Amino acid sequence: MADETLPFWKTKKLSEMSLQEWDSLCDGCAKCCLHKLEDQDSGDLSYTDVACRLLNIGACRCENYVERTFVVPDCIELMPTNLNVLRWLPPTCAYRLINEGKELYWWHHLVSGDREDVHKERVSVRGRAVPERRAGDLEDHIVHWPEDGYQ
Ligand code: SF4
Ligand code: SF4
Repeated sequence: MADETLPFWKTKKLSEMSLQEWDSLCDGCAKCCLHKLEDQDSGDLSYTDVACRLLNIGACRCENYVERTFVVPDCIELMPTNLNVLRWLPPTCAYRLINEGKELYWWHHLVSGDREDVHKERVSVRGRAVPERRAGDLEDHIVHWPEDGYQ
């Protein structure tokens, strides 16, 4: 029997979570909303600091979450069944961490109780991303910080 003193993400599989529980796992970092580039020859992926046109960079929130995959066709909806193949998910992403059997970091709002901690710890894109309309060539915007783990 599940230990009821433990939080849901420690007792349930991702596929067993309610929609509300699933949605609450997102830490709001918005690193998944940055454009990525794929090397045609090697297949290697690089992050850029250029935000998707629907991202409110200050709030780290999608401006049209409900219709996002219609408005931005390459926006990929995370599901328990596709986490293993989405190799661009940042190492701090809560879905990736749980899927890999790891702990959430202390700054995750479900642990700390404060949705601002992800920003205070500079894990999110707030203050670091560039709006798509002002970016120009994506190749000039390759960055590595979205792939950094949390020390
Ligand atoms: S990277 Fe993961 S935790 Fe961060 S905003 Fe995207 S889905 Fe949420
Ligand atoms: S459409 Fe919304 S959720 Fe999808 S990448 Fe853009 S900002 Fe992020």
